[in-house]
Amino acid sequence: MKVTTPIHINSKRLHDRIYKLSQIGKIGETGVCRLALSKEDRAGVELVKSWMEEAWMTTRIDPFGNLIGVLEGRDPDAPVLMLGSHVDSQPYGGRYDGVIGVLGAIEAVQTMVEAGYEPEMNIEVVAFCDEEGCRFNKGLFGVRGMTGKLEEGELERTDKNGMTRREALLEFGCDPAGFDGYTFEEGRIGAFLELHIEQGPVLEAKGEPIGIVSGISGPLWWTVEMTGFAGHAGSVPMPMRQDALVGCAKVIVALNELARQEPDAPTVGTVGSLTVFPDSRNIIPERVSFTVDLRDIDLERRNGLEEQLRMLIDDACLEHGLSYTIREDTNSEPRFCADWLKDVLRHEAAGMGLTPPELMSGPFHDSLTMSYVCDYSMIFVRCKEGISHNPKEYAAPEDIQLGTELLYRAARKISERKGG
Ligand SMILES: [Zn+2]
Repeated sequence: MKVTTPIHINSKRLHDRIYKLSQIGKIGETGVCRLALSKEDRAGVELVKSWMEEAWMTTRIDPFGNLIGVLEGRDPDAPVLMLGSHVDSQPYGGRYDGVIGVLGAIEAVQTMVEAGYEPEMNIEVVAFCDEEGCRFNKGLFGVRGMTGKLEEGELERTDKNGMTRREALLEFGCDPAGFDGYTFEEGRIGAFLELHIEQGPVLEAKGEPIGIVSGISGPLWWTVEMTGFAGHAGSVPMPMRQDALVGCAKVIVALNELARQEPDAPTVGTVGSLTVFPDSRNIIPERVSFTVDLRDIDLERRNGLEEQLRMLIDDACLEHGLSYTIREDTNSEPRFCADWLKDVLRHEAAGMGLTPPELMSGPFHDSLTMSYVCDYSMIFVRCKEGISHNPKEYAAPEDIQLGTELLYRAARKISERKGG
């Protein structure tokens, strides 16, 4: 891997910060537990805030718990360029998820200021509150709050100790009373860029340090229930059985084959959870409930696969004498990155001697919500074996450096003075 132009960002400073932040809520050798709105989260946010201030940004924490740093541009009324991600973690998480997007953005801004560069518009760096959603079972809280997309009852959701989000926000130092007067100003944000670890194995398989995201795929989530008839596993002859688990098994295999129909497509299909009733070794399974997760960046293709899957379920149930229901739990549309932002990223990467591949994001990110209020794009950094949401999560410093350098160059390009 040859990088033909110099690196502007301060890679040592960036990695010192990644390391220091990883010591807050540290578990084991390399793990992190900084649950949203916890004491550890607050300590992490305070530290990140101090780094924003070192990078000459003015800082504030909004009522939703988002930490925002602002570098003022020449025209403070122009739509802002927003950069960022999150610093909360899963209960058994790693050092890099979200973190590189926030600390990388601070590094990009600090590099600009040190180079004497003044952007046209304000640049805002955000550490969004509670992206992960594990504590209150609903994620992307801060970004949805900021963009006016919270739902009824969100403050009353409780964690496993019975604490409500309202109480947690107050403990964190935010006042949910501030929600009432808040409205999101359409058009305030011109573009959003997020740097993130890939959380998948594609870049590693391709031998590429960084990638440009084409879009975030929309998942289709179902819960399927198949019902047959229980009987003694030792006595009911095979032709007379109504075995719900056999019908389900056929669907599991069929979904796996459907998702492989187009070998070059990024389609993924998973049955990840299965409940068998009565769940005994000598009773023919009477009822099986299982989940379906189908994702694709191409909604038309996904809809086509959904139709085929429905027919396959129908066939399997007919063959085995089963009845079935399909409950749709989530049906999100794919959200594409803006072509002009991808062009900027490709162009700036070429200037670094890189030709990053384009890839889809299966997981959600803060960008998903941002996509409804402004143009967005994402840079992915290769992570070891695709492992994430795990203390073993690892991204090489050289790869993070390249991703951050690209973020810096792209942010600088986008925020250049117009008309001299
Ligand atoms: Zn993340």
